[in-house]
Amino acid sequence: MANSRFEYVKSFEQPDVLLPNTWIVVRIDGRGFHKLSDHYAFAKPNDRRALDLMNAAAVEVMKELPDLCIAYGVSDEYSFVFHPNCQLFERRNGKLVTTIVSTFTAHYIYKWSEYFPDRLLLPSHLPSFDGRAVIYPNNRILRDYMSWRQVDCHINNLYNTTFWTMVLQGGMSNTDAEQELKGTVSADKNEILFKRFGINYNNELEIYKKGTVLYRQVYEESPVSESKQSRSQQDKIRKLRRKAQVVIDHVDIIKDEFWEKRPWILS
Ligand code: ATP
Ligand code: ATP
Ligand code: MG
Ligand code: MG
Ligand code: MG
Ligand code: MG
Ligand code: MG
Repeated sequence: MANSRFEYVKSFEQPDVLLPNTWIVVRIDGRGFHKLSDHYAFAKPNDRRALDLMNAAAVEVMKELPDLCIAYGVSDEYSFVFHPNCQLFERRNGKLVTTIVSTFTAHYIYKWSEYFPDRLLLPSHLPSFDGRAVIYPNNRILRDYMSWRQVDCHINNLYNTTFWTMVLQGGMSNTDAEQELKGTVSADKNEILFKRFGINYNNELEIYKKGTVLYRQVYEESPVSESKQSRSQQDKIRKLRRKAQVVIDHVDIIKDEFWEKRPWILS
């Protein structure tokens, strides 16, 4: 582009490159989804269609960005994980976050009518998402991050399941249910569900209890450590990743088993 006397303004832009050789997690979260879920009458505590829509949009993001190794979603949030040797957008924070957020939002809105054929999206209540990138220096801490989100899913879901059962089946007011649940631990909530409503929390759907993990089914034949590979080998793996099926799973990602069975995810 031709130089002009206005070009100096470019120097006001601040660099925002994320530290090299670290995991990058971009977490997006629905803006005001408490209100949005009321407006479109999501089922409480868990609207299955809304979760399926979140997952469908996230799968499209995974397909468009082969640098993503894994993603984890719960409620109105999704965490997308880039590998430490990812060079997409020279690792620029703003570029990565805005691309994920807008790609996700575009697919969420595009697919809305497929999941909610009877709920017309209104311009006054359009879904939007915020996003942030956080870097994690090693595999252990990345896994602790993923565990943190899944524990959060469990705690919130146990609370929400108990709360909404007390309200919807027990006929309690929101305030009364909230009051009774104040200060209770997991065992208390399990007991309320079982003794009062005959509900065994363990029998709730895995998607509600565990959230959703997305990864590529590349199988063992692929990567050794990517960092030790030549450019052409890396290109090959990238192609493999691009072709690989994105799997939607609702399983424990806290214990070692998930990761040991699928060593390619973090390699
Ligand atoms: P913020 O803009 O700060 O994120 P928020 O209203 O989106 O505010 P969150 O803490 O993100 O608050 O919580 C999301 C809320 O969206 C949940 O508490 C729940 O009320 C609603 N929600 C999200 N997904 C579902 C779903 N699948 N089924 C029912 N309700 C849902
Ligand atoms: P990047 O992803 O790096 O932004 P890009 O292909 O989007 O790559 P830009 O520098 O953003 O490149 O330039 C946007 C390009 O999109 C323009 O150069 C032009 O070719 C095309 N474009 C954008 N708006 C219009 C328009 N209204 N009419 C015709 N072409 C357009
Ligand atoms: Mg938020
Ligand atoms: Mg939200
Ligand atoms: Mg949220
Ligand atoms: Mg452009
Ligand atoms: Mg442009």
